[in-house]
Amino acid sequence: MSTGDAPVVVLGGSISGLATALFLSRRGVPVHVVEQDAGLVGAPAGGEPGEEERRAPRSVTPQAAQSHAFVALARQVLLAEAPDVFGALLAAGVEPIQLAERLPPAVDDRSTRPDDDELVVLGSRRTTFESVLRRSALEAEITFEAGAKASGLVVDATGARPRVVGVGLEDGRRLDASLVVDTCGRRTPVPGWLGLVDDVEVDDTSSSCGISYHTRFFQLRPGATGGHLNRGYTAGSSFDRYSCLVFPGDLGAFSVTFGTLPEDRELRNLTTPEAFTAAVLSIPLLAAWVEGDRSLPTSDVRSMTGMDNRVRRVRSAGRPGLPGLVSVGDAAATSNPAHTRGTSLALHHARLLAEAVDRHGLLGADLAEAMAQVVQDELVPWVADSAEQDAARLSRWRPEGDAEPVDFGAPALGADRVANGEAYVAAQADRDVWQRFTRLQNLLEKPIGALDDPALVGDVRRVQAAGRSLPAAPAPDHDELVEVVARHRRERRTVAAPS
Ligand SMILES: Cc1cc2nc3c(=O)[nH]c(=O)nc-3n(C[C@H](O)[C@H](O)[C@H](O)COP(=O)(O)OP(=O)(O)OC[C@H]3O[C@@H](n4cnc5c(N)ncnc54)[C@H](O)[C@@H]3O)c2cc1C
Repeated sequence: MSTGDAPVVVLGGSISGLATALFLSRRGVPVHVVEQDAGLVGAPAGGEPGEEERRAPRSVTPQAAQSHAFVALARQVLLAEAPDVFGALLAAGVEPIQLAERLPPAVDDRSTRPDDDELVVLGSRRTTFESVLRRSALEAEITFEAGAKASGLVVDATGARPRVVGVGLEDGRRLDASLVVDTCGRRTPVPGWLGLVDDVEVDDTSSSCGISYHTRFFQLRPGATGGHLNRGYTAGSSFDRYSCLVFPGDLGAFSVTFGTLPEDRELRNLTTPEAFTAAVLSIPLLAAWVEGDRSLPTSDVRSMTGMDNRVRRVRSAGRPGLPGLVSVGDAAATSNPAHTRGTSLALHHARLLAEAVDRHGLLGADLAEAMAQVVQDELVPWVADSAEQDAARLSRWRPEGDAEPVDFGAPALGADRVANGEAYVAAQADRDVWQRFTRLQNLLEKPIGALDDPALVGDVRRVQAAGRSLPAAPAPDHDELVEVVARHRRERRTVAAPS
């Protein structure tokens, strides 16, 4: 069966789908995007501050209404593949946050370094980022079908190795495809469909992140500025069995996210708007963002749980990959959102697919194998690092828990290495460590080769030996925060109760 004249069919029109479609179409590849959500295509960019946050969250992608930061790798990919999109983001009010201008106060060496200008995070609401990307994709030579749900794959099983040759839609239609790209996100149905195909295996490895997110958006009043970003592109910290971070966005919007243990019933009342704001005010590091009339809330509190570190690998006829199918972004791998990596890795993954198509074409089995290797080399190390950081946090937050570490099959770091958290702490006091750690945090270097680099290991150990540790950030402990939350929930009930 020949599918050589058929387009690439991209399932999903969110960050990964849009980037994949854009990067391929700019190489002259015909692309057709199938997105189940009818409201997504054609949505205007930006809009009034707060407008996007008031909309109901998307059912398949509820994280679109959660805090996002776009680390330096995202900017790097856009500048290489679609500089016009980068320009459009700036024009839409997205803030480039120059990290080297925000060195930690205890770092003595404040000289400039040659790679400082790569260390730029984009402060943007996820909704703004995605709608700018969508507008560029809509202007490109890409066909879109919104409100169409993919319901299965068409597989040619007549050859020595099965091959995906098209997609079935819920309305009964069938689309031929030279290549199907699964960008259906963290809950992609595609692995379930593959389970029904002879000679195809899906390996799905995951560990729970052990965190729930509770997020509210705010808008700075005209002329007002936000508080200090003590973590470079966010403000906040991990405290006693909870974390709280502020994410600056575009056009004066910002969001505040509490991370709690999923089983923590006592902090569930954070979802009450008054209790949420009172909880932020109780943390001195963050109070400045919401106190007085500096900012106004623009959304309810939205919670999300059930997040995993996950890698999905497909094999067919005993070999990596399945010809005719590639997964990009969350459909292939996810990591703890608190590490702010998903969208940047999705853009990077889309770029690597476009480059692999340049090298291998669309139809050969080589493409599937090359992209299986991309997952192994470019995504798995981050998933394993995220799981390792989660295990370190959970050993503090849930000391009685003793979860077995999950083996994601990442390449092993050298025996003499530091943990990501150790590098973070030392980075607050030493410029060399800060530079390396910031490159790592921004996905410009991988854990292997950085966390086990003898130079970095030596610098971190030197800082530790000098007794430099993280200055404590004053904040309520867990039980005090529960009290704050309960008090404000009670106050609200009292006010609301009829006399
Ligand atoms: C709480 C939270 C906070 C996060 N914060 C950050 C952050 O700060 N920084 C960061 O970089 N990343 C962050 N991430 C990760 C980031 O949101 C994801 O990596 C990103 O959404 C992945 O995009 P995607 O296109 O792969 O998937 P998604 O955005 O999930 O999109 C999947 C798309 O596929 C469509 N679809 C699904 N099934 C079908 C079907 N059968 N037919 C047709 N269409 C279909 C859906 O409607 C959807 O539009 C966060 C994630 C979470 C959960």
